[in-house]
Order: sequence, then structure tokens, then C-alpha cells
Amino acid sequence: MKKILILGAGTAGTMMANRLVCKLDLKEWTITVVDQHEKHYYQPGFLFIPFEMYSEQDVTRTKQEFIPRKVEYIQTVVELIEPQHNRVKLQNGTILEYTILIIATGTRIVPDEVSGLMDSGWGENAFDFYTIEGSVALANRLKDWKGGKLVVSIAEMPIKCPVAPLEFTFLADWYFTKKGIRDDVEIQYVTPLSGAFTKPRASSVLNHLLENKGVNLVPDFNIMNVDGTAKKIVSYDEKSVDYDILVSIPTNMGDDLIERSEMGDELNFVPTHKHTLQSKAHENIFVLGDATDLPSSKAGSVAHFQAEILTQNILYFIQNKPLKENFDGHANCFIESGFGKGFLIDFNYDIEPVEGKFPLPIIGPMALLKESRMNHLGKLAFKWIYWNVLLRGLPIPLISAKMCKLGKKL
Ligand SMILES: Cc1cc2nc3c(=O)[nH]c(=O)nc-3n(C[C@H](O)[C@H](O)[C@H](O)COP(=O)(O)OP(=O)(O)OC[C@H]3O[C@@H](n4cnc5c(N)ncnc54)[C@H](O)[C@@H]3O)c2cc1C
Repeated sequence: MKKILILGAGTAGTMMANRLVCKLDLKEWTITVVDQHEKHYYQPGFLFIPFEMYSEQDVTRTKQEFIPRKVEYIQTVVELIEPQHNRVKLQNGTILEYTILIIATGTRIVPDEVSGLMDSGWGENAFDFYTIEGSVALANRLKDWKGGKLVVSIAEMPIKCPVAPLEFTFLADWYFTKKGIRDDVEIQYVTPLSGAFTKPRASSVLNHLLENKGVNLVPDFNIMNVDGTAKKIVSYDEKSVDYDILVSIPTNMGDDLIERSEMGDELNFVPTHKHTLQSKAHENIFVLGDATDLPSSKAGSVAHFQAEILTQNILYFIQNKPLKENFDGHANCFIESGFGKGFLIDFNYDIEPVEGKFPLPIIGPMALLKESRMNHLGKLAFKWIYWNVLLRGLPIPLISAKMCKLGKKL
């Protein structure tokens, strides 16, 4: 039997298992997935937990529930990849050989990378919302907070879901308004970027929105350390911002496995071909989702587009045909903006988010780069789509893996 081995049963790995099991001849191929955890979290839902919109239960299922019956699932830590021997070592001592390896080990926050962050009252007045533990702890802290200085601070790029810190800030404005204490809360958005977002056109729209909501944008802030005693963050050029509650988006890195296996860059992301998703170093290794070093957004929607293209390319690889360079960096992200509204942006490696209608030209019903109620409803519907369509590897009607230019004011 020939073997496909998938490392990681998060968004990307689960989708690949579901897609490949329908496409491969299972008399010839076995598919195995390895992940260290039992639970599958709907990570976009972490955003809503601090604001009492979702509970932990709303975002939690088991991983096994989404792994097809004909795929073997092993729950343990992957210790080492040995590409020269086409095999992987697991923490429980098992050695798995593979014909094709798919790396989908994602990214995680590493608060230790920000000097002083972990000694600054982590879990008391400094938090993250990129983990289930962080978002639940933050919810408990914000519930009875009477106001003060709230600072949202991005340590460095790239981060997964680069719009999530902005959404957090917009929702904080809404949440404290709803609680009647907005005048008592000073909100600052501190970023190493020169504006609110990575892409200039969207950035200018979002900069204005921050301003309209009374949020102070602190751009070009490269954090050097957190001083937990004085409750301030300090940049390399000696600027400082005071806080009462710090919401940090610490450095995002690929898993240590990638470092142990000497397969990554300085942030443990795996060098990957931009359009085919083949590893740059090994032709029978493919990478998708947050684990790649690609300049596309690290988002579930991107992993979904990649999964469609990668499934095709794995079939071509098996048939000894040339791979198709079909991945164009397509990303599609809702941006929750508070008060029951949201934005939607659609872009790729070459085309910035622009105004227009989505997914159908003229009809929409969603508006691009504009605030609307429909976009907010789309964001809420994404949870159902995630569990029932996306993870199961099914196509989303009218939404193609490559970015569609129709309906956009390019
Ligand atoms: C707060 C927040 C909001 C977000 N909002 C959105 C959104 O609105 N829209 C959107 O599209 N995306 C959003 N995302 C991003 C999205 O969740 C991720 O991009 C997506 O989950 C990436 O999928 P992945 O499979 O690459 O990584 P993951 O889903 O993180 O899966 C990686 C898996 O690999 C496993 N793993 C890693 N190393 C090992 C090892 N050594 N051994 C065994 N197992 C290992 C992990 O346990 C994990 O299960 C958001 C993320 C966050 C945190």
C-alpha cells in the first residue's frame, strides 16, 4: 500500500483528509492523520468569547468527529520528520513511513518571544484571545471591569487572521458602549504596521473606522518589552503606551516540530512553492494552511482554497503529471465592526481588497469593503459553514478557489 500521511488535524489537515478520501483509490492508498489534541476549536469564535457572545462550548467539538471513517487517526505529538527517509517519528515511539507527506501543523502564539509579557500579570491584566484559555480568561476579566486603559498590541507580523485584532477592538467599542461605560474606557490599537491593516486601500478605510470609534491608533510600534510593574509596553525607539488591561497578539510561530526537523525559516514556517503548495525542499512533501511561509493570509478561508488546489495537485503528482500553479493567494475575510455590522474583503497575492459585490456581481448580497448588516450575518453564518461544509471538504457554492474579478471595482 502507498501511504499519505497528514500532520495536523486542524482546519487544513481535516479538510485534506475529507477531500482525499473521496479521490484516492483506497485499495492502493492508506490515509493517516496525526494530531496531538482531542478537541477541535472553531478559532474564529475565540473573538466573540470575551464579549459574552459565544461560550467555550459553542466553539468546541472533537477532532475525530470530522475525520472520515476510512482514515486512520492517531492522537499523539509528532516528534520529528525525517524527509531523507520518508518517515516521521511520533512521541509514543511509533515510526510512520509515507509516500506523500502533507504538513498542516498550523501556527501558535509564543508569548515568551515578547520580553516581559509572561511576567506582566499574564492572565490577570495581560491576555491573549488567540487560544481558548486566553479568550475565556479575558471574558472573566472584562465582565466586571469598570473601565480604564485597554491596549490591543500586535507584537510582530505575520499573525493568523490579521484582521482579528481589529475586530476585537471594534467589538470592545461596542461592548463597553452597550455596558454604558464606553466613556470610561480609553482604547488604543498598537501595531508594528504603518496603519490598521497590511493592504493600503483597506487600511485607509479601517483607519477611519478606528478614528470614528474614538480608538487611538499607534502605528509603527515595534515592541521591545512589556513592563508589568509600570504597566506599560515599550518600543525599540523608546515610545511607551500605558495600560490597565493589555490584550496582546504575541509572536506567531510554526510548531517546534518544524524547527526540530530543520525544515523551517526563523519563525518555523515551511518554505513552500507560492502557487503549487509543494515544499521547496522535498518534492513528495506538500504544505498548506498556517504552516506555510507564504505571503497569503493565515486564515481558514485560505486553507479552504488551498485544500481544493492541493487535492488536485496531489492527484497530478501521483500520476506523474506537472503540478498546476493554481493558488493565487486568494483570501476572503469578514471583519466584524460592532453594533451588528461587518465588512467583507476579498483579495489575492496581486489584487488588493476593493469595493464591489460578493459573491455575485450587482446582486451581491454582500458588499465588499463596506460596512453592512449582511456582512455581519455572513460572519455569524461562517460557524455553521465551518462545521458542516468547510471541514468536511465540501465546496462553498459560488465561491471559487481562485479569486473571481467579477463584481469588483478593480
Ligand atoms: C482569534 C482568531 C480569529 C480567527 N478568525 C478567522 C476568520 O474569521 N476567518 C478565517 O478564515 N480564519 C480565521 N482564523 C484563522 C484560522 O482559524 C486558521 O487560519 C486556521 O485554523 C488554520 O488552519 P491550520 O490547519 O493551518 O492550523 P490549525 O487549525 O491551527 O491546526 C493545526 C493543528 O496541528 C496540530 N499540531 C501542530 N503541531 C503538532 C505536532 N508536533 N504534533 C501533533 N499535532 C500538531 C495542532 O494540534 C492543530 O490541531 C482566526 C484565528 C484566530 C486565532
